[in-house]
Amino acid sequence: MGTSQAQKNVFTLVIDPGHGGSDPGKARQSRHLAHEKDVNLAIALKLGQYIRQNLPSVQVIFTREKDEYVSLEDRVELANRKKADCFISIHANASNRAQVQGTETHIYSRSQAASLRLATLIEEELRARAGRPSRGILDARERGQNLYVTQYTRMPSVLVETGYLTHPKEEAYLNTANGQALIASALFRALRSYCQGGIPPENRQRYYRVQVLATSRPVDVKSKYFDDLDEKVVEIINPASEAYRYKYLIGHEFEIERARALQKKVAQRGFKDAFVVAFEE
Ligand SMILES: [Zn+2]
Repeated sequence: MGTSQAQKNVFTLVIDPGHGGSDPGKARQSRHLAHEKDVNLAIALKLGQYIRQNLPSVQVIFTREKDEYVSLEDRVELANRKKADCFISIHANASNRAQVQGTETHIYSRSQAASLRLATLIEEELRARAGRPSRGILDARERGQNLYVTQYTRMPSVLVETGYLTHPKEEAYLNTANGQALIASALFRALRSYCQGGIPPENRQRYYRVQVLATSRPVDVKSKYFDDLDEKVVEIINPASEAYRYKYLIGHEFEIERARALQKKVAQRGFKDAFVVAFEE
């Protein structure tokens, strides 16, 4: 009984250091400094270390622990397959204006209560613990686009931008062991509060897609027919008894309004009969 009780209390956290391998993220501005991928990894590894030392009930899974390329699809697939309780992606930002600096935490939607709570704790701790200027929380609507990892993960998820590598002072800070340790410590404290403080419910079991085509014969999802959609097309094959059994869908939204907006967009691009379909995990 004791063992099953302990297992039940394990909280699984996926830590996702952004970029890696052939994808450097924001490239370093001088050869004395690190690429974004290496800054992300250093902070992520420290965060994992703090959690393993201080929160033994939290199981940590990394999407990468070394300098290697991992696709966004594989990062999300790992977190979904492990049925993680929480997903945190670590990045550093860039701007074409050198004076822009500060941290940002990105979430799918402010209506996702658990993600919003974690993002709030992270921005607070980055300001209080690490003394970073906070630029606040942004969701996909405010940003004007989805981020793959916060869109497709089926658990509360955040993407933290730990600072701007295009701001010389912030880049220097993010390159120091002390700066990385303070950022990791702030993220650790936010996650500790999140795990201990009662996590609000967040429904990511139900999601919405837009069906753009149904046919009796299969169509290549990479077909030119879908070119104008600029969205990944997913094929769903229904039983042979159904006449138009090959269904082609796009999008993955947790809010119906966002799915309707996508439907409207593709209707303007010629897919006039497109409609929204709800899915339940
Ligand atoms: Zn990045």
